[in-house]
Amino acid sequence: MKNTIFLILAILFTLTSCETAKKETTPSKTYIEEPHSYAQPNDAVITHLDLDIDVDFESQIISGTATYDIENSGASQIILDSKFLEIENVTANGESTTFELGKFDEALGQPLTIQIQEDTNQIAVSYKTTAKTEALQWLNAQQTADKTNPFLFTQGQAILTRTWIPIQDSPQIRITYDATVKVPLELMAVMSAENPKEKNENGVYNFKMKQRIPAYLIALAVGDIEYKAISNRTGVYAERSMLDKVHTEFSDMEKMVVAAEDLYGDYDWDQFDVIVLPPSFPFGGMENPRLTFATPTVIAGDKSLTSLVAHELAHSWSGNLVTNATWNDFWLNEGFTVYFEIRIMEALYGKERANMLALIGRQDLEDELEALKESPNDTKLKLDLKGRNPDDGMNSVAYDKGYLFLRTLEETVGREEMDAFLKSYFKKNAFSTTNTEDFITYLNENLLDKNGITFNTEEWIYQPGVPANAAVIESDAFSNVEKTLETFLATNKINTSITQNWTPQEWVHFIRNFPEDISIAQMQQLDDTFNLTTSTNSYITMVWYEQSILNGYHGNKVDSKIADFLNTVGRRWYVTTLFNAFAKAERKEEALAIYKTARPNYHSVTANTVDQLLGL
Ligand SMILES: [Zn+2]
Repeated sequence: MKNTIFLILAILFTLTSCETAKKETTPSKTYIEEPHSYAQPNDAVITHLDLDIDVDFESQIISGTATYDIENSGASQIILDSKFLEIENVTANGESTTFELGKFDEALGQPLTIQIQEDTNQIAVSYKTTAKTEALQWLNAQQTADKTNPFLFTQGQAILTRTWIPIQDSPQIRITYDATVKVPLELMAVMSAENPKEKNENGVYNFKMKQRIPAYLIALAVGDIEYKAISNRTGVYAERSMLDKVHTEFSDMEKMVVAAEDLYGDYDWDQFDVIVLPPSFPFGGMENPRLTFATPTVIAGDKSLTSLVAHELAHSWSGNLVTNATWNDFWLNEGFTVYFEIRIMEALYGKERANMLALIGRQDLEDELEALKESPNDTKLKLDLKGRNPDDGMNSVAYDKGYLFLRTLEETVGREEMDAFLKSYFKKNAFSTTNTEDFITYLNENLLDKNGITFNTEEWIYQPGVPANAAVIESDAFSNVEKTLETFLATNKINTSITQNWTPQEWVHFIRNFPEDISIAQMQQLDDTFNLTTSTNSYITMVWYEQSILNGYHGNKVDSKIADFLNTVGRRWYVTTLFNAFAKAERKEEALAIYKTARPNYHSVTANTVDQLLGL
């Protein structure tokens, strides 16, 4: 008996070790052609990163070594992506090897070609970032909430990770990582990984990311921050003066995770924390796994803007678990996430709030379609961004047309079928990538054909604009807002007993729907009655400032408020909305004057967009 078992074990062991050996030499998946990375992963691909870096605030340089385990199909070279990096030394299996940096491309950077041998299974690159890095934003103490210490954060999406780590920067390529990060003693480092909850004494932090992620989700923040738990798997990081406010604002986080799991299956990343960054952070949020990065502009004091957290949480499934194979398939990340976000919000706060969010997105989409009317190809879900910066595809089409497609699909097949389908889609593709074509095949096989349903999927995905069968979204609350606005415009009277319980979303809807001929006196009256210029809700002020710029309203010192806002907040959506309004109102000179002082506060992704917008 014992011997038999031993024999079986011996055979099993032999089989297992053969299989392991085979795995190391044969890339385990086939990668499709990708327009935004120089990597040739079918020849040699990275599987694990061991990052060892020093963060120097004085010189604003990160330096260190990126060591990779690789799968090598017997190739003589491996190609990494690199942009604005100084490469110092490269080794293969511990031995010095030759490398070459290729021709520079404005969007993609340079291929870093490293000579390897057939049996090479590890490479190491020693490097430094430079002043041109696009992922990193170094902030001085004045640009933080506490104003006592500097701050650093990274933004990797779409193709910026290559500006702080030499890496195969394609969403198709997933790796695990470990990191050792040395920072100044008074600061703490956190990453999209298992994180410390307290500062340590030597300023050296160790990280482990055991789930496989694409390069754009590697993230680092360094600052004088503290942690406060919400539940045993959720919590917040923020600077001290913000910590309690942030904790209260996001106190529903655990409930959100539970609601999300009820919808589409287990949360696969163990921990879900949010770090609130200084106001120059260029996005509402960035779904870095285990640690969402968020703008402080959503801390409104009344939980009214927390759909952002639902959105970033939803990315734990759509985007992080099932990732767009290329940036042409970006709608698979964002359309699904907006759909999921709105379902989480409905589960927590009811249908009315969900429909308000959906309708705001619907209006954003109409505005975007209008803005893109000269380039209809950019209004397709599946894009062709070859030769362009993938940032060009990061607009309302991916988010809100993607949402509308899924909502229309839901209304066609019924919610129960839709949910079962999405749950199986996430499960089947977990920790993997998918492209639009594979999605369509999966949709046909598992939802449409199975139920004998015909649906104009191809029109939605491959044609510009919005198909005629789009779901009609209605909200009683918004209809009432529109009636209130009409009455006010006709009578100059507004019944404050109607408006007193309005949510910020209702206010936003009210303000955004001002007609072009609203008078200055009417704007002044609204401002005097409701203190819109000094609202503490950033979403309300943003749309109010937009209308003030468009309509030439200058009351209640709104102009200096707008300038302050643009000099402090770097959230790209807010900033571009306001600069766009200046451009539309032919007030470009004022815009340029503000931008001169504001630009140094912006992260590169915001600055690049505004540069373009203002024709600089
Ligand atoms: Zn998103």
